[in-house]
Amino acid sequence: MGKEPSHLATDRTPGPFRVRCLRCDTIVESWHRDVSAPKGATIGMAYCQCGNIGADSLVFQDFGRVLFRNANSYEVVTDKTERPE
Ligand SMILES: [Zn+2]
Repeated sequence: MGKEPSHLATDRTPGPFRVRCLRCDTIVESWHRDVSAPKGATIGMAYCQCGNIGADSLVFQDFGRVLFRNANSYEVVTDKTERPE
């Protein structure tokens, strides 16, 4: 593997990757093992209650991989989408 691509800049903040399953309305939260996660947090792949989606953090906040059984049945939850009015 080569160098990190430039879009993985160091100014990104380590943090959780969150995905909402639109089928069971569960928010799945995943933390990378290299990040100091809060107690009880899921490290690595995390699944929603109905098993439709899995989320896997890639270290940085709002950045990760999603595994899904049904396309268009999930949404990535970012601080922006969670911000109160
Ligand atoms: Zn689900």
